[in-house]
Amino acid sequence: MKAKRSGSSFNSLNSKRKLESVFLFTTGKCNARCAMCFYANDMEKKARDMSFEEIKKLSETAGQFNRLWLSGGEPTLREDLPEIVEMFYRNNGIKDINFPSNGIKSDLLIEWLKRLRKSCPNCNISISISVDGFGETHDKQRGTPSFYKAAETLKKIDDNFKDDGKIIKNIATVITKYNLDEILDFVAWIYGRFNVSTHTIEAARGTTREEGVKAVTEQSLREIQDAIAPYYLLYARRIGAGMNAIGRGLTEFFYVGLMRAMYNIRAQNIDKPVCWNMDCTAGETTLVLDYDGRFRACELREPIGHVKDYDYDIQKIMQSGAMKKEIEEIGHGYKANCWCTHGCWIMSSIVFNPLKMMSKLTAANREMKKLRRPVDISESFLNNLEEKYNIDRDKLKEAGIL
Ligand code: SF4
Ligand code: SF4
Repeated sequence: MKAKRSGSSFNSLNSKRKLESVFLFTTGKCNARCAMCFYANDMEKKARDMSFEEIKKLSETAGQFNRLWLSGGEPTLREDLPEIVEMFYRNNGIKDINFPSNGIKSDLLIEWLKRLRKSCPNCNISISISVDGFGETHDKQRGTPSFYKAAETLKKIDDNFKDDGKIIKNIATVITKYNLDEILDFVAWIYGRFNVSTHTIEAARGTTREEGVKAVTEQSLREIQDAIAPYYLLYARRIGAGMNAIGRGLTEFFYVGLMRAMYNIRAQNIDKPVCWNMDCTAGETTLVLDYDGRFRACELREPIGHVKDYDYDIQKIMQSGAMKKEIEEIGHGYKANCWCTHGCWIMSSIVFNPLKMMSKLTAANREMKKLRRPVDISESFLNNLEEKYNIDRDKLKEAGIL
């Protein structure tokens, strides 16, 4: 029997603010050297990763929460990661796991996903593989030759979990000066060649490893977003395939609306911090744990303490003077004193603002309607793109993509 995606924590509009999402930077190690990595400075410190025992104390004091967002470094380099996730499942009843990876350790990733599907049967696992551009562009941006490996990983995930609604397959791309010129072709190619549920496009953020890689302004990011809008309607239909008409309609409304609303907020914040006109709940509903035990209210802000100073007790951390001061500083986003350019953060707040969220979704759907247009994803179009960007079709065949 096919496993269906169960009620995601995002599906219930929830206005009661309590810890909802823990963002765990699993390790300070990485097997890539991305030009746009915003965590490079932190990883360069080569501090010690928190031990399993330290994370266990955090899990035991956190109470119930819905979403565990893994981050890194590269999560597959943390050998005890499955045990850590299983512990959060047992102790905290997590319903959704967000699992990003650069896709280099393909077989290990598949083995872990299989294990987690058995050990955490009620969890939805969003696996998000980073692919930044065609062939050499990807390799250059990632600082490692990994384009065909990432493609192979995506194919293996699809083959192993094709009918499993609890494994949600995503691709994540970061826009930089390296891929800017090909991004529109790339979005089309990804949709045509990979059976994924979504393709998120983020702009490079924070202090990047390589200076000068950020490449978009509010204006140019909005132009990109408008140009790729039709693919988000196609993704909504892909997700809704097999549902009845009401399910398809609701999926389209929420998916398309959320993507557009999130992209709008992000574009507004590229040139200068701007208030979203909706409460940011960072520090009330979210906690970020750096790999070395420092903690933050939001990934896009600075660390405000270390877990060891709070006996590894998440309740103490959430109630601490440092967190209260930080929430005050953030001013629920209305002070507009931080650069809010990342989708995860916007999504983590949006569900706690149900009325404003519905009005944003309605407006976003109206905008998307105007951007509908037919797109070409025919085989000949995809072949032409592969030729234009010197893609080695033999390697794609080997990976099972063609
Ligand atoms: S962006 Fe991610 S994959 Fe790339 S170097 Fe940084 S941590 Fe590693
Ligand atoms: S960057 Fe955005 S999500 Fe983070 S604290 Fe600021 S307003 Fe909130």
